[in-house]
Amino acid sequence: MNPSVPETTSRPVVSVVAPAYNEEAVLPAFHKRLVAVFDGLDCDLEIVYVNDGSRDGTIAVLHALRAQDPRVTLVDLSRNFGKEIAMTAGFDHACGDAVVVIDTDLQDPPELIPEMIRLWRQGYDVVYAQRTAREGESWFKKATASAFYRLIQRMSRVRIPEDTGDYRLMSRRAVDALVQLREQHRFMKGLFAWVGFPSVALPYRRDARFAGETKWNYWKLWNFALEGITSFTTIPLRLASYLGLAISLFAFAYAAWIVYKTLVFGEDVRGYPSLMVVVLLLGGIQLASLGIIGEYLGRMFNETKQRPLYFTQAVAPSTHALARRADSA
Ligand code: UDP
Ligand code: MG
Repeated sequence: MNPSVPETTSRPVVSVVAPAYNEEAVLPAFHKRLVAVFDGLDCDLEIVYVNDGSRDGTIAVLHALRAQDPRVTLVDLSRNFGKEIAMTAGFDHACGDAVVVIDTDLQDPPELIPEMIRLWRQGYDVVYAQRTAREGESWFKKATASAFYRLIQRMSRVRIPEDTGDYRLMSRRAVDALVQLREQHRFMKGLFAWVGFPSVALPYRRDARFAGETKWNYWKLWNFALEGITSFTTIPLRLASYLGLAISLFAFAYAAWIVYKTLVFGEDVRGYPSLMVVVLLLGGIQLASLGIIGEYLGRMFNETKQRPLYFTQAVAPSTHALARRADSA
């Protein structure tokens, strides 16, 4: 028997974790499409909506959805924590035998889920959707995204699949492993990869947003890249020492040459420009190295506080969650 699928005679429950931040415009359409996908599947559905401190009518829409559909679990966070933590809150509250995480803006087509479930039943713990085309995104975003993946691949030991977002299915044991990682700086692509387990890619075409606006801008993407690098490798720290070493070697050679020059040709007082260049270069490198150390130190500072990842205002469990809780009691 395949260990990633539980040995039960009843229908497996698949939890779909859907973080939502200001998505009132899309949620009803999203819910309809998701539910339609599960009609006729031999799995039960639980939908874990996480309201990530939305400022629009998202929470009202979610309450309405839960009122008409008992398969909905509603997790209402105390403020906006960002998608990474919203997803984690969803994983914490999902009761399914497998858990799918999906964006609510319909950029991740829910129609992939049956294929994910099929692969899960074949024995894969993780089925991640891999984009073959990015619709409605600029060439600049595509180019920077691909450069980032190549960079992080080279620097870190865990293999992070390229062109892969968060959209994926995970078996119960993979989710149980993932929720044990409680670090504050949550670079989810890295955490998913770090957990391991047999994984497979499922290629698909990513659509442009159905409605509403993306919450990502280039500044946020840059910070996201920094997060990824600093939470998964300490190579930049080593880079700073190598750079220092290289410059010191160069300085020694240069000093030797100056001594030789003075002895052979005598000294005329010039050299202000070269002095300035050296001072500025070294100053710049020192500041940059301090900055790199600071990035890591800041992260250590945040982690040592050991704060909980999030707080919830309210949790309304689905019927599946209630039934499983009763079973285990
Ligand atoms: N999201 C969230 N909290 C945030 C930002 C986004 O829960 O602070 C959710 C959002 O509702 C959506 C998903 O994360 O379901 C992806 O967000 P978005 O579409 O803005 O990102 P993109 O698709 O551009 O990567
Ligand atoms: Mg989106």
